[in-house]
Amino acid sequence: MKADPNNESISSGRVVAAHGRHAVVEDHAHNRYHCAMKGRRLRPVCADEVRWRLEQTDVGDGVVVEILPRRTELARPDRRGRTEVIASNMSQIVVVIAPQPEPDYSLVDRYLVAAELVGVSAAVVGNKSDIATLNLAGFAALGYLTVTVSACQPDGLAPLMDLLSGQTSILVGQSGVGKSSLLNAMIPGLDSRTQTLSDGSGEGRHTTTASILHHLGNGGEVIDSPGVRDYAPPPVSARQLATGFIEFAEAASQCRFADCRHLAEPDCGVKAALEHGGISRRRYESYCHLVERLAAIDPDNYS
Ligand code: GDP
Ligand code: ZN
Repeated sequence: MKADPNNESISSGRVVAAHGRHAVVEDHAHNRYHCAMKGRRLRPVCADEVRWRLEQTDVGDGVVVEILPRRTELARPDRRGRTEVIASNMSQIVVVIAPQPEPDYSLVDRYLVAAELVGVSAAVVGNKSDIATLNLAGFAALGYLTVTVSACQPDGLAPLMDLLSGQTSILVGQSGVGKSSLLNAMIPGLDSRTQTLSDGSGEGRHTTTASILHHLGNGGEVIDSPGVRDYAPPPVSARQLATGFIEFAEAASQCRFADCRHLAEPDCGVKAALEHGGISRRRYESYCHLVERLAAIDPDNYS
């Protein structure tokens, strides 16, 4: 076989921002290159590990030739019901909530379910503690790490920095809870609000849906993903969905039917636990809400 003349110059890199079929790839020295994709099938997402080479194209300075297998993927159903990958290779999902805007706890639960289904850890951050301190005890009781901070009080951000240290985290939550403010407070010199992803030609600018990977001083990496303000996991069976509610497992072992969906079935262990307080009504309602939402996308699985 003939050696690829370009092979020598192929090196490994990391996607720190992706938009459609363009990606910003970072080398080991943290230099960044705007890259096009080789071939139609490559669909890069933020935090992908890739093989790429220097090559001038319309897009910029490089071409990605391969996306390496992803360790994890956070995905959601797109408008047509297909699965869209938001980011890859995260080890943790960090959900930010605040006293203002009023927390959407059902959204928090949807992210926690996603973390369970993807197989990564999850944490809940209560921001804006200068306004009011949210009660996160319910999440802590389920086994999730919780941290209370204020982006306005940078001296008190150590617990959040510790949570993010050594992990690749995706920061998610409603618009306005303070995700950008927290990033700005943790990363000196970053103004994530004005950060844009230029296409290298100096003309087009892609700002709207790009996820961006930031490095923290402590070795942590944070994926800022503006596209995940509303979220539901991709369709799975009701049984799989129930495994995303970690506290359901023990109660579900008491259900009369092995394929119980914990809705209208008789002798349901989950509903029994709901009656005597082992499972909170709020979490059960989140489950029912999610079943309805997923059934709308994928009726066959929920009939
Ligand atoms: P994002 O949409 O989650 O990125 O939220 P932003 O970072 O844009 O913050 C939304 C608003 O909340 C802005 O007006 C911030 O100044 C404000 N904000 C963010 N964090 C805090 C905080 O800890 N305390 C207070 N009082 N306001 C905050
Ligand atoms: Zn049941």
